[in-house]
Amino acid sequence: MQFPQALETVLQALARMRDGSAHRPCASRSALDALDQAAPARTSENLRKPKINIEVAKDPKKTEKLAAVQTRVSVCTKCPNLASSRTQTVFGVGNPDAEIMFIGEAPGADEDAQGEPFVGRAGQLLTKIIKAMGFARAQVYIANILKCRPDVPAGSFGNRAPTPREMQTCRPYLMEQIEIIKPKVIVALGAAAVEGLLGTRAPMRELRGRWEFFNGTPLMITYHPAYLLRNQSASEKRKVWEDMMQVLERLDKPISEKQRNYFL
Ligand code: URA
Repeated sequence: MQFPQALETVLQALARMRDGSAHRPCASRSALDALDQAAPARTSENLRKPKINIEVAKDPKKTEKLAAVQTRVSVCTKCPNLASSRTQTVFGVGNPDAEIMFIGEAPGADEDAQGEPFVGRAGQLLTKIIKAMGFARAQVYIANILKCRPDVPAGSFGNRAPTPREMQTCRPYLMEQIEIIKPKVIVALGAAAVEGLLGTRAPMRELRGRWEFFNGTPLMITYHPAYLLRNQSASEKRKVWEDMMQVLERLDKPISEKQRNYFL
C-alpha cells in the first residue's frame, strides 16, 4: 500500500474509533506529531468519514498521484467557511484512465453526505446520459469545480452557487486531476463549470454545443443536468444529447441509429 492510502486507512480507523466507540483513541505526542507532519492541515473536524474512491489505473503512478491529491483535498481549509460546514470533501470518482471527464459545479447535500459527486437527482440523470452514450459510470471520470458543498444558512434548503473566489481557490486541485487523468475530452456541465474552467461568463444558450479547449484538451459545453430537471422540455433535453453525440464523434465512437434518434 502506498503512503497516502496507508495514512488514509489509519485516519479512517481513528475516525471510526472516535465516532463509534465509548473509548476515544489515545496517541502519544510523538505519534500525533508524526501524523501532523504528514497531514498538517488535518483537524478533528475534517477527520470525518474520509472516503477513498479512486479506481486503479493501468499506470499505478496515476492512482498514487490521484490519491495524494485526494489526501490534500480531504484536509483542505483554504475556504474556512466551507471547511467548517462540509461533512466531507467530494473529490471525484471514476476511471483514472477515462477518455471523458465530466465536470459539474459543486457537491449538493447528497454528495456532501455520501462523498461522491453526482449521486442525487441530477446525478441520476447524468448517469443516464453516460449510459446512453454507451459507457458505464465507472468508465468515465466525474468531478466538480468545488470539492466542498457551498455553505448555506442553517435551516435553509437548497444550494448556493460557488463564488468566483471559491472557484479560483479550488481550481488548482481540479487542474491537477485533469493533468493526471489526461482525458481526451472534457464536458463542462453548466455555467459554473464553464466559468471555473475557462473564466467565461455568458448565457448557457449561447455557450452550449460549442467546442472550446482547456489547456489543449477539447472541451464541450452543455447544460447542467439540474437545468434539465427544472426544464423538462424535450427540445432542451435533445440539445444535451446532440452535444453528447458531438463528444462521441470527437472520440471516434460509432453512433447507432438508436442513439441518433434518442431523446433523454
Ligand atoms: N451538481 C453538481 O454540479 N455536482 C454534483 O456533484 C451534484 C450536483
